[in-house]
Amino acid sequence: MEIQKLNKEIRTKTFEKMKKKSPKQLTTSWYQDDLLYAGTGKTIFIIIPTIGCSWALGDSGGCTMCSYISDSHFKPLDTVEIFELFVGEFEKYELTENTCVKIFVSGSFLNPIEVPIITRYKILKYLSKKKHVKEIVVESRPEYITKNVLKDVFSCLGDKLFELSIGLETSNDFTREEKINKGFSKEDFEKSVETIRSLKNSYNIKSKAYILVKPILTNENEAIEEAIETAKYCERVGVDRVSFTPITIHKGTLLEQLWKKGSYHPPWIWSAIEIINETRKNVSIPSFMDTSGFGSRRGPYNCKKCNKILKNAIIESNIKQSLIEGINCECRLHWIGDKKSSSLNRSKTTIKHLPLI
Ligand code: SF4
Ligand SMILES: [Zn+2]
Repeated sequence: MEIQKLNKEIRTKTFEKMKKKSPKQLTTSWYQDDLLYAGTGKTIFIIIPTIGCSWALGDSGGCTMCSYISDSHFKPLDTVEIFELFVGEFEKYELTENTCVKIFVSGSFLNPIEVPIITRYKILKYLSKKKHVKEIVVESRPEYITKNVLKDVFSCLGDKLFELSIGLETSNDFTREEKINKGFSKEDFEKSVETIRSLKNSYNIKSKAYILVKPILTNENEAIEEAIETAKYCERVGVDRVSFTPITIHKGTLLEQLWKKGSYHPPWIWSAIEIINETRKNVSIPSFMDTSGFGSRRGPYNCKKCNKILKNAIIESNIKQSLIEGINCECRLHWIGDKKSSSLNRSKTTIKHLPLI
């Protein structure tokens, strides 16, 4: 596939230029208010280093928008060292009654090549003994989600809630395969959701889908429609929660190359608001809008006057699961113009000098 060739070439050049970081430098964490399954609480996010996402390291070059591979170590890590780095981050925080721990590995937590089984076992066993930790969230591609692996997870975790987040990105197969280069089908995704659902009687297990907002070669209008449609699809197939990820331009990706040439623009924050409002009106499972990168040069952007106000409104609405209403700004007209012109001419890039309305 042409896109995979291009992707691999860009990836290889990026690897050559990359400065190698130590496992300690690659480890980080933060703490914030969140809406847990048990209600409002706090989440500790911990990023631990691994050898790197197998999909990104393979011949396909990985997904066109993702540079998490730059946060990887490329070489196998000592299993005790990864565990100790994890514990070092976890112990920085004082736990409250309702605490969730999200473990990010810049790839798939359930892939034994990325996270060795012994490391997975040690981390989950450690968390199972923490009284205030009520929920544990990890990410994985569908191919690593099997009944046996999940049973193994619960043999460590007992009755704690375990959520698996899967990067579906979109329910549109063409977009997922040809624009994102995700490398799995809707059927693969549905099979994983079904595996999770089939274990619900025995274990406290949940699923979440990530939905990408505005992949490459997608205009503003298409991006909004596809994201809302995907959330509806997720509810239909039995996903427990959805989380939208509007694009931020990652370094060393095909997406970045298109952006540099003026052939891609991150979504408007107004689009993120339309997506989350429409989803909350039409879909009954909880929905979240990730605001990382909002208001930055490489991220979703409106204008200097309203970026921050809207970002804060979205963060608050994620906790309350409420609609975002009653905020206006003059840049809204430009967004409406952009949406209308992109529907008229099907262009994927920003058009200049068109009448706004
Ligand atoms: S989005 Fe996930 S699967 Fe795709 S390259 Fe990034 S880490 Fe790997
Ligand atoms: Zn504005």
